[in-house]
Amino acid sequence: MSNPVTEEEIRCIGCGAVIQTDNKERSGYVPASVLEKGMESGEVYCQRCFRLRHYNEVQDVELTDDDFREMLSDLERTKALIVYVVDILDFNGSIIPGFHRYIGKNPVILVGNKRDLLPKSLKENRLVHWMKEQASVAGIRPEEVLLTSAVRRQSVQEILEKIESLRKGKDVYVVGVTNVGKSTLINQMISLTTDMREVITTSYFPGTTLGKIEIPLEDGAVMVDTPGIIQPQQMAHFLDSKDLQTIMPKKELKPKTYQLDVGQTLFLGGMARLDVLKGKKHGSFVCYVPNQLPIHRTKTENADA
Ligand code: GDP
Repeated sequence: MSNPVTEEEIRCIGCGAVIQTDNKERSGYVPASVLEKGMESGEVYCQRCFRLRHYNEVQDVELTDDDFREMLSDLERTKALIVYVVDILDFNGSIIPGFHRYIGKNPVILVGNKRDLLPKSLKENRLVHWMKEQASVAGIRPEEVLLTSAVRRQSVQEILEKIESLRKGKDVYVVGVTNVGKSTLINQMISLTTDMREVITTSYFPGTTLGKIEIPLEDGAVMVDTPGIIQPQQMAHFLDSKDLQTIMPKKELKPKTYQLDVGQTLFLGGMARLDVLKGKKHGSFVCYVPNQLPIHRTKTENADA
């Protein structure tokens, strides 16, 4: 196989993304030194396809708006089961704006990821009900709403079984904004479905710049990993990576309760400040914050300083 080379563009022979050496986060990236070698042999794989082929590992890439629209119109034309992955710690930030328009008649499973970070005692029925309501507000009516932890094998096994029972021979498209854990989930699925090392193929869609990856399923259908979609409303985009590390919980969130009076202030690290302006004496404030984020109580009159 060789790359279809036009004057200005080289495409990845794995996924068809236009090869570029500028931006690691975007589809088609290869380091410049690797590109030179690839050109000699006539075969260039983008870094993402390379990692998938050699390490069975999917990496997320960002899509430009045009690529995104192209991918979504593709979805509308295809008969597929859509697995829509959201981060339950930032549900609103996980919603892809206008996504409902691209679903067509396809069934959707809404998967709330990172369950391990919410308290064990949480009433899952209530969370699922709330997610259904929120999805409906966004114009999406999922067949199923499921909770999972991409980092836990057993939990992902259950999702796989659900997908298998709902897809009825159809292809599966996994979609989500970046940072919801889509790559972690797909990597876990790959590692659960037998020894895929030999089986994984990436396929080239002529004329597209999608960088989507197909993982074969048993009956000849495929699971398609679509690139992560950028959602500017997402909490993760408001913080730099150091701050994001500080507020990303690493373990189950445990409630911390503070009794606050009028005139008192609670600092949540350097991220947020809560002033009590009116209310009962010793009002209870329950905070769900990661352990590594220090909470500080002080008098409001000293808070500015
Ligand atoms: P993607 O951009 O959607 O592909 O997201 P990634 O798979 O790269 O995950 C984003 C971050 O969330 C990484 O730091 C992961 O380790 C973390 N993550 C993903 N899934 C889970 C999960 O189920 N539980 C926890 N605690 N963290 C997760």
